Amino acid sequence: MQNDRDQAIGGHPNWKPETLAVAAGRPDRVPDAPLNQPIVPASTYIGGSTTDLVGYGRYGNAGWSALEDTVAALEGGSRALAFASGMAAAAAVLAAVPADATIVIPEHCYLGVAGLADEYRQRHGLTVRTVDIADTAAVLRAADGAELVWIETPANPTMDVADLPAIAAALPAECLLLVDNTFATPLLQQPLTQGADIVLHSATKFLSGHSDALCGILVFGSDTDAELVARAESARKLHGATPGVLEAYLVLRGIRTLPVRLRQAEASAKVLAGLLADHPLVDRVRYPGFGSMLAIDLTDAESADRFIGNLRLWVHATSLGGVESTLERRRRWPSELPSVPPGLVRMSVGVEHVDDLASDLLTALDLARS
Ligand SMILES: *Cc1c(COP(=O)(O)O)cnc(C)c1O
Repeated sequence: MQNDRDQAIGGHPNWKPETLAVAAGRPDRVPDAPLNQPIVPASTYIGGSTTDLVGYGRYGNAGWSALEDTVAALEGGSRALAFASGMAAAAAVLAAVPADATIVIPEHCYLGVAGLADEYRQRHGLTVRTVDIADTAAVLRAADGAELVWIETPANPTMDVADLPAIAAALPAECLLLVDNTFATPLLQQPLTQGADIVLHSATKFLSGHSDALCGILVFGSDTDAELVARAESARKLHGATPGVLEAYLVLRGIRTLPVRLRQAEASAKVLAGLLADHPLVDRVRYPGFGSMLAIDLTDAESADRFIGNLRLWVHATSLGGVESTLERRRRWPSELPSVPPGLVRMSVGVEHVDDLASDLLTALDLARS
């Protein structure tokens, strides 16, 4: 398995991401072998082998490896670990740092991550500092004496962007830098090549791309502390948050088309960001200039809810990164931070025709005015 992994990642260093998305994580080219890594539903394996020993279904699976090798190749990493969900991957990181560590997290980030960090603070003595990730100086001040800086960029749901190279260059070597790369995907941002130690994905979102699977992935660079990687893998084994074999298959299948999906969605997002900025009901468009996520601030919660109620194509749903365009007024969740404006609507642009997406939005906005 190790050989396959080396081949997938190291064997074709000049291939572009679009090619790696298609070509990595394949079975060996043996006559009559399946082209795709088949699903291997196995809770246990026959004993006696001395090489490539998996042993038990919680320790490994050929389908996980194919997925991990592909994401590691896309991120320019050397090793990846797949988990049952993005949150399971996040929990493995917190389990892998010292219980009394100090960590820095974004003031706006995926709510589950903030909740998890708070649980570790209360139960295990973690110290948690929050910071505006767009303010590099503030990030670096907060990182003083910290073991881990956790950056989500672009951040959920405010679309704040961090200056990753500046942060990575100025952080002390002993401080780990984790980047949640869920929104940008490895096609638009490769944090490991910019100095991060760990990349986290909710593969539930863009990598999977079809709103039908939960999965999470951690990716490590060749310089990442091997003991940290071993502790994260041990957390997967001992906490048991392993990906389902069907989910691993679906996510890898989704990755095959990620570059074309993202190209289409990003082109549409750019058009829509411009159109929305011109609408009188929209106070502010938050679009970082790349990717297919954006947010708009409407004047208040009521007009945002009216707007959402008038849509016929866009789906009102949480989550993001699917082929379907979805959107959500974030403050509908009582747990969302009060610093997120009540009228902020987060939007995930899918791959439908941009004209249909635009006319649905503009019609719904016009109706919401009256
Ligand atoms: C969804 C999400 C997560 C959590 O992932 P799950 O797969 O839902 O557990 C973490 N970070 C970001 C940015 C997300 O969007």
